[in-house]
Amino acid sequence: MVTTTELGLPALRTHTVAPRDPAHSAGSRGADPRLVDRFGRVATDLRISLTDRCNLRCTYCMPAEGLPWMPRAEQLTDTELVRLITIAVRDLGVHELRFTGGEPLLRRGLEGVIAASAALTPRPDISLTTNGVGLARRAAALAAAGVNRLNVSLDTLRPERFAEITRRDRLDDVLDGMRAARAAGLSPVKINTVLLRGVNDDEPVELLRYAVDHGFELRFIEQMPLDAQHGWQRAEMVTAGEILGALRTAFTLTPDDHDRGAAPAERWLVDGGPAAVGVIASVTRPFCGACDRTRLTADGQVRSCLFARTETDLRALLRGGSSDAAIAEAWRAAMWGKLAGHGIDEPGFLQPDRPMSAIGG
Ligand code: SAM
Ligand code: SF4
Repeated sequence: MVTTTELGLPALRTHTVAPRDPAHSAGSRGADPRLVDRFGRVATDLRISLTDRCNLRCTYCMPAEGLPWMPRAEQLTDTELVRLITIAVRDLGVHELRFTGGEPLLRRGLEGVIAASAALTPRPDISLTTNGVGLARRAAALAAAGVNRLNVSLDTLRPERFAEITRRDRLDDVLDGMRAARAAGLSPVKINTVLLRGVNDDEPVELLRYAVDHGFELRFIEQMPLDAQHGWQRAEMVTAGEILGALRTAFTLTPDDHDRGAAPAERWLVDGGPAAVGVIASVTRPFCGACDRTRLTADGQVRSCLFARTETDLRALLRGGSSDAAIAEAWRAAMWGKLAGHGIDEPGFLQPDRPMSAIGG
């Protein structure tokens, strides 16, 4: 049964985790071939950053001038990347792949990497998170290569505001891309929205109405301290509670979390359904206790968490001639060290050195 807090959010999980499996909590990993950690979590969802480059400059993500991009030689080649994905799926029990960035559509060879991933056994579920620029002409090829689901980031429906937030005048491109994705059968197309106080926090109702009318599923993401400029402030963040309060002025929301599993979004049926809206309350309602993610950066570093302050260098192993078995073992060791939670609310919290665009959101 779902219980409800004063925020109207279903209380489903805590962000502290207790060891669940005695074999894992005994201090050693045991013989489990999967990506287990000492808190009993198993990482089965691999987030892959294909590039740190981007053609937008969202204010909450990177500065207007962009960032010093990763030199090409440091980036994994397609062959190296597919080898790591193969190890993850074949040897480590990963069954979901999400390609992201930076902007993944900027990665040459994207369709080839996706097709190679889709050819693996067991066939992983494949999704893509994109800003949607240029998606209109790529959507059919991406679907044909093997993408199952797609998330497009869209923070506003107003052209001037879009240009203010992303520092580029590309709203129509993004809307065309979303329509093309839907036409290509990439279902559901989800919209990721970050609300910024005093910028677009008056738009949640408009955005949800648009999503419902056009058959997209909207998810609001609380802004996290992952911007390159280190400008995030807790007090400035638009909280899940505020977002739900605003939506409830226009819609009836009913909790729909029966099969949430490790999904980060708390889902709500809109006016009785079937349309739904999600809220990813990473800051005010962390879901670390149910996290099933492992992350790979474009330069071949494994991260156990978005907020991890350490990385494991698989590229060095790849380029140093290590076997698949040795690489798999290094990946397991990296995930075994995953911390219980991201610690944003703890006094000693330190933002990771890499910004979101270089980790892969
Ligand atoms: N460029 C692609 C895009 O925008 O969809 C993929 C990478 S982007 C880093 C992935 C997601 O992270 C986007 O939905 C974006 O809105 C979100 N994001 C970026 N910076 C964020 C932050 N500081 N807090 C919360 N979400 C953020
Ligand atoms: Fe680019 Fe995505 Fe960051 Fe926006 S959120 S600047 S689209 S990487």
